[in-house]
Amino acid sequence: MAGDTEPSFTELVNLNSKCNQRCVFCAAEGLIRPHGPAGIAAAIKRAGRHLTISGWEPTLHPRLPEIVARARARGVKNITLFTNAILLDDAEYARRLVSAGVTTFHINFPSHRSGLADRLTGTPGSHERRVAGIRNVLGAPGKKYVSLVFVMNSLNYRTLPACAAYIVKNFPGLVHVLFTTACVMGRVRKDRTLVPKLSKVRPYLAKAQGALLKGRVKCLVENVPLCLMPGFEHASFDARQALLSGRAGAPAKAHHAVCGTCSLNTLCPGLREDYFHIHGDGELKASRRAPGEVARKVRLLKAAHL
Ligand code: SF4
Repeated sequence: MAGDTEPSFTELVNLNSKCNQRCVFCAAEGLIRPHGPAGIAAAIKRAGRHLTISGWEPTLHPRLPEIVARARARGVKNITLFTNAILLDDAEYARRLVSAGVTTFHINFPSHRSGLADRLTGTPGSHERRVAGIRNVLGAPGKKYVSLVFVMNSLNYRTLPACAAYIVKNFPGLVHVLFTTACVMGRVRKDRTLVPKLSKVRPYLAKAQGALLKGRVKCLVENVPLCLMPGFEHASFDARQALLSGRAGAPAKAHHAVCGTCSLNTLCPGLREDYFHIHGDGELKASRRAPGEVARKVRLLKAAHL
């Protein structure tokens, strides 16, 4: 089930270098190189069962439904669309994308509060349009999955528990929330204060995870070392990747001295290097949790047995 309900991060096609938001935490600004028609065709050919469509905001591409339909016709079973969902406030357009073959909508959801969402996205009115877009996708006929991605930053991390409760209440049918950290890329390079200390985020993240678990919404966490999410280590996207690949290494992440005696160092790739350069490694603490038990729960969560 997980392979069908969660976004794939395999073959990626970037459709353009435009966006209709100006998120303060945007990691893509200046880094996206869109594929031309030949590149899109080649990506579809290489995709096999999974294709991810992104870059920068793919719904701004005038031929998106056609590209999705072409991928489906070529046998791509799982098509993930990364989007801010603003343009999905047009119910007919949302239905068209589902009907063309998008199977997973992976939607950037910066806040459940309208004012904060507008501030974070630099786009007045974006929250209401995004909420309408999510509802339109959830209500569209046809099989599809909707997941939200919440980029934790200094402006929104204290709202994590309330946001989780909002998501459970307002989006029945949602399958998955991914909490990730603001990375020092794109816009964040100009304002590193957007990257909060993970030890400060930790209690809010734990409450949010608890609320989602209770509401039967699957939750994953990316870029947080396992020792900074005790009790919820199994929700680590990094741990899942380590189990799938058989090794804990990950690009831009590294172990530190304390990791040498940590029981979870085969499941955890350590700290992001850009985070280390801001906050250091003083928050890390060697875990004593049994790795086999964490691995068992990772597998259960992947199979959605909450
Ligand atoms: S001590 Fe190191 S290996 Fe262990 S959980 Fe923390 S960051 Fe990961």
